[in-house]
Amino acid sequence: MMKKIIILGTSSSMPTKNRNHPGIFIKFNKKGILLDCGENIQRQLRIMKISPTKIDYILITHWHGDHVLGLPGIFQSLSSMNYNKKLNIIIPKENIENLKRIIEDFMIPINFDINIIEAREGLIVDEEDFQIYGIRTKHSITSYSYYIIEKNYIKLDKNLLNKYNIKDKELIKKLKEGKEIEIDGKKISYKDVGYIKKGIKITYITDTIFFDKLIDFAKG
Ligand SMILES: [Zn+2]
Repeated sequence: MMKKIIILGTSSSMPTKNRNHPGIFIKFNKKGILLDCGENIQRQLRIMKISPTKIDYILITHWHGDHVLGLPGIFQSLSSMNYNKKLNIIIPKENIENLKRIIEDFMIPINFDINIIEAREGLIVDEEDFQIYGIRTKHSITSYSYYIIEKNYIKLDKNLLNKYNIKDKELIKKLKEGKEIEIDGKKISYKDVGYIKKGIKITYITDTIFFDKLIDFAKG
């Protein structure tokens, strides 16, 4: 389930006093996604009380400074924190070597797994509660835009749960998984106490001239 969308920066190539280089953090129940990583993004995260360790995915649109200058700082911090997860980085194929080089050149003692995923058109990532899609855009260098779509999920109504006297966490978990439960000899499904909530779609398109395919990509 998507919890929050936090705008960390909306500036263009030059940060201003009030606007940071680009960055958006999307918080899911279990995973966190960072869209672009301009200079100073780790401090913007701190200001919003988000630990960098909450990041599971970094989606890089293209290798211009305002979208990537924050990467070495994030890597450096994660290396000195208790980050015992896998950091997934989606990036255009052309820039994988650049990414490896900044880690080398800044001599960052990376002590966690980095999973580099080539950006491509269509489905890129299929997670438990969301998917990530990409589209090639039209900029002065290779660039991609992305959308993240939350999967539909079962939402339970607290009043209805009370009505049927369903308090047991295990039973609630089963209902959320779409399984039928039995209470006081009566069979109850999620349909009796809730409904299917449609997932939210977030499209992030930046640094491109307009072309028709973007309309379909952003639809919904
Ligand atoms: Zn650019």
